[in-house]
Amino acid sequence: MSREPPRQIVQAGLGTTPDRGVIQSLWIEQPANCDLQCPYCFCATRRGVRDLDPENLAYDQANPERYRVDLYVTNILKPFAEKIAAWNEATPEERVALFDCPPENAEGHIRGKVAIPGAGEPFHPDSLWLTRALIRETAKLDLHLTIFTTGHWIDDSLAEELAAEDIVLLVKCNSRKKAVQNRFVGQRANGYFFDKREEALQRLMRFGFNRPFGEPGSDRYQETRLGIVTSVMRANLRELPDLLRFARRNNIIFDCDTILERGRGSKCPEIPSDEETSAAFHELQRIDREEFGKRWDISRSYIGTTCDRFRHHLYVDKRGFIYPCVGCLGDEGSGVPPVILGNVKDGPQALYQAWETPLMKNIIRLHRYEGPCKTCLNYEEHKCYSCLGRCRNLEVRLDPQDGQTPVSMKGCWNNRAK
Ligand code: SF4
Ligand code: SF4
Ligand code: SF4
Repeated sequence: MSREPPRQIVQAGLGTTPDRGVIQSLWIEQPANCDLQCPYCFCATRRGVRDLDPENLAYDQANPERYRVDLYVTNILKPFAEKIAAWNEATPEERVALFDCPPENAEGHIRGKVAIPGAGEPFHPDSLWLTRALIRETAKLDLHLTIFTTGHWIDDSLAEELAAEDIVLLVKCNSRKKAVQNRFVGQRANGYFFDKREEALQRLMRFGFNRPFGEPGSDRYQETRLGIVTSVMRANLRELPDLLRFARRNNIIFDCDTILERGRGSKCPEIPSDEETSAAFHELQRIDREEFGKRWDISRSYIGTTCDRFRHHLYVDKRGFIYPCVGCLGDEGSGVPPVILGNVKDGPQALYQAWETPLMKNIIRLHRYEGPCKTCLNYEEHKCYSCLGRCRNLEVRLDPQDGQTPVSMKGCWNNRAK
């Protein structure tokens, strides 16, 4: 397997998944139900309005007040799990021949990873039935599941139910100061969110989510199943070291990225300057090294790791459209065109067809980029693989059928030119 610099666990498999020629991770959206109104929300949910969009994968024509899970199962989860099973059952030679797996990565065993992103709150009462169904179905197919959540809908009974499952919960935690946190979700300083979220974090620790899970050495083993999630923002810049320490001292994942400029995030006044962002990354890197003995390099998007999703991942939105990753969603407000590779409603074959489009197969998966990211030393040293959402030249439309033209990249504040 290729040798890469040290990285920390942020999201399952992120920064640690080699190219094996096959899809290994998927993000799947649900309908966008949420009672909060975060200024940086990339899916721009509408507070208090139930998402009954008839285009949704979960839309049930016979009973629009409910959701259905069957399309998620037949057209996403099963084809995904079957492809991974086929790879696992193949010999190393077959993996190279049938999957274009690089020979150096042809050994080993893959466990498919699914995440439900916080594009709408999965445990919101309007989405809970569907989330439970997805937990059940991923478990049946032996897929690992991560759920991004605000946490504040999780009570004792739900925590107990979730504790028995092989899932990781990544809980929104932009600040541990009440007024700051509540403003981050669009509430007044004394709003209800902060207290409920704090209770939820304590509750999840009480139910053992921050303890190791599964047999050490097995592919079900997790050092912890609890994380806190935030972005680097103006209002929490100075607090980030405390959030990192809170996470490290409690065996909690620290999932901290930079704002993705989509949806409400595209006009978000919380985006710090490049200098402020760079200073925050360096300070957190120093604290992790000196206080916790944890080493990692500075990339563009995440604290503690680098995004390697270009080589193992697809993203499916709530209407079934398939993208290379979340950074390839469109944004009408800013005139950014989406990069749509297909739609899972076309059948169980659509997911893999998307993976095999010329753009994915010959450009993105091979990391054929041009511009400052191509000549950056961080790329050469495997410290950063750029970002299709944050560092791409968004004015250049990507054509899924074009397997010739490299992706045009803008680079970033962390560029180290050769
Ligand atoms: S909690 Fe998530 S889905 Fe809800 S508004 Fe905030 S970012 Fe959007
Ligand atoms: S390339 Fe960027 S936007 Fe895409 S998954 Fe990675 S960090 Fe996110
Ligand atoms: S210029 Fe590109 S490759 Fe270099 S650090 Fe920035 S995003 Fe990463």
